[in-house]
Amino acid sequence: MIAEELRSTPQRRAVLEVVQHAQDHPTAAEVLERVLEVLPGVGAATVYRSLAMLVESGQILELRLGPSAATRYDRNVENHDHLVCDQCGRLADVQVGLDPTELLNAVSSHHDFQVSGFDLRIHGRCADCSSATSPRRSTHA
Ligand SMILES: [Zn+2]
Ligand SMILES: [Zn+2]
Repeated sequence: MIAEELRSTPQRRAVLEVVQHAQDHPTAAEVLERVLEVLPGVGAATVYRSLAMLVESGQILELRLGPSAATRYDRNVENHDHLVCDQCGRLADVQVGLDPTELLNAVSSHHDFQVSGFDLRIHGRCADCSSATSPRRSTHA
């Protein structure tokens, strides 16, 4: 059976490739921008639908950072943690290596909540943003 939804269209392949080659965690709008560079004329709806399908099939991850922040997409589907820049919203992958099992068990029993997963976000300011707010003195060469 060849379900329409499962067929890998050129558009979907392009979307997957864009996310997999991204060094950052692009938003849907950024993915669209990059797909348009390889497939000019592709529709925004097609790209957004492809993103949703790739998330559903587990090929990429969707990151929601709060109600007001744009959803970002992650090529790294392994369990990993993130550094979040509060200034520019940039995300970087980081492996903290914490084992939260004990903590999660405690939370689970205290709040009568069944934990299904855990991810850590460390907030702060990225190198670009911290150098922008504390500019280096210009030296006369
Ligand atoms: Zn930043
Ligand atoms: Zn990530």
